[in-house]
Amino acid sequence: MAETTSRRRLSDIPVPPEVPQRHAGSYRALAQRRTQLQGVITSTSQVLSEQRQSLGGDLTDCAGPQIIEGVHLSLLQRANEEEQQVIAAIETLQGKTAERVYGECIRCGKKIPKARLNAVPYASTCVKCQRDADKEQ
Ligand SMILES: [Zn+2]
Repeated sequence: MAETTSRRRLSDIPVPPEVPQRHAGSYRALAQRRTQLQGVITSTSQVLSEQRQSLGGDLTDCAGPQIIEGVHLSLLQRANEEEQQVIAAIETLQGKTAERVYGECIRCGKKIPKARLNAVPYASTCVKCQRDADKEQ
């Protein structure tokens, strides 16, 4: 089973010296995700502005373009939100945020299980607290 993807290998991503060695894998995953998100943000913004230009700013009584624009806008919004979380996690890893420790839940202070960090490297809460937070919303 050979790995045939042309993607940049995770192990090629440089890790800054201030990031603890045990979190090197998480840092690389975050850095890669950030690059992916920046690609999504750039291309979605481009599609949106091209669409607006081609319509000449005239969205009158045609619903189709508005729906497509709405899809792109929500995609862009989600990518922006996730990017903010990724950036916050990277800064935490680099020790730039005094109030947060990477891998610790910001609500209960317990360690976030490694499996969760592997799945969501920018997670700032444990599964239980995330569920509680979702319920509160
Ligand atoms: Zn917690």
